[in-house]
Amino acid sequence: MNKMKRIIYADNAATSKISKSALDAIMPYLSNEYGNPSSLYSLAQNTRQAVENARIKVAQAIGALPEEIYFTGGGTESDNWAVKSAVEMNADKGRHIITSAIEHPAVLNTIKNLEEKGWEVTYLGVNDVGQISLEELQLAIRDDTVLITIMTANNEIGTILPISEIGEIARKRNILFHTDAVQAVGHIPVNVKELNVDLLSISGHKFGGMKGTGVLYIKKGLRLPPLHHGGGQERKLRSGTENVVGIIALSAALEDAVSCLSTDIVVKMRDRLIEELLKIPRTCLTGDPVNRLPGIASFVFEGIEGESMVLMLDQCGICASSGSACSSDSLEPSHVLLAIGLPHEIAHGSLRLSLNKDNTIEEIDYILEKLPEIVAKLRSMSPLWDESKS
Ligand code: PLP
Repeated sequence: MNKMKRIIYADNAATSKISKSALDAIMPYLSNEYGNPSSLYSLAQNTRQAVENARIKVAQAIGALPEEIYFTGGGTESDNWAVKSAVEMNADKGRHIITSAIEHPAVLNTIKNLEEKGWEVTYLGVNDVGQISLEELQLAIRDDTVLITIMTANNEIGTILPISEIGEIARKRNILFHTDAVQAVGHIPVNVKELNVDLLSISGHKFGGMKGTGVLYIKKGLRLPPLHHGGGQERKLRSGTENVVGIIALSAALEDAVSCLSTDIVVKMRDRLIEELLKIPRTCLTGDPVNRLPGIASFVFEGIEGESMVLMLDQCGICASSGSACSSDSLEPSHVLLAIGLPHEIAHGSLRLSLNKDNTIEEIDYILEKLPEIVAKLRSMSPLWDESKS
């Protein structure tokens, strides 16, 4: 008989399992409630009502107004829309953008594309735990700066950045401020008013919603150009028949996630991983030890390739990642690890374990049993590993 392989999912920052509350909420909309929200008859009005209720729930979760919530096709789309539109609408004021060196490719590559079209960009460096300097930010601001975009929390090393302070600086200088909050929303408290943001990106699949769903928060009064032209959905800014099921799933999952934010148990499991894995010689924690996401434990192990670790963990039924999932098809070490000052050869040995409330202490114990064995085995096979140095 085939024994079912035990799966320990420790890659929640890449994507998460759809939550039970999201699954329950979407069931009617996968069968009988299939009306187009723009139609007039009552079948369709049920879906319209469901989309508007979802908008209210999302708004409540982040301290926004319902009319400030725009549903999108994911974090990448929200980032692209925010960054491109913000600079386009301010092109007559200037062509300078400020961002950080550790942004997700959804922001970095959008900005590189703008750079190729003539915009000037300042990439703020970060210190060894992934924090930017507010003084450097102030110095980087010019009269022609039209956008600051800095992520709320980093997806690879879990560092949480000082968004509220950055927002205050941007507001005082009258510069639009966007934050990619994809890894933060649903994991730490996020309130758009307290963060002083104009634009904020969310992705549904990072907190129990469905892949290909997202939100862009657009502060009331800001007249962003439309992302899509068409039938006029999403208050004429993102035309296209709404992804009703995805929107309902996102709102139900978010409501659920914010009701039990950063549970002590997730932090406890993360800290146990960190404490125990740092006992392995020549192993370092990456990211800010204090201001870090509750679920992310990220490391570099000298003398090892991260990909080999991920494959061997997979053989034990453990899902983890090396670098971010989105860039794991590249052989270059992660730009984030290089930005925090790690040499290439060490950055190659990265591993990220990302937890949520579905993980258990038993799973953590199992990871702690297997991972040190895997590290020792890989090091013993590596020509780069010099045992005498440890
Ligand atoms: N921004 C950050 C910080 C992310 O971690 C991700 C996905 O990993 C994205 C943006 C892209 O989101 P999506 O997968 O919804 O396009």
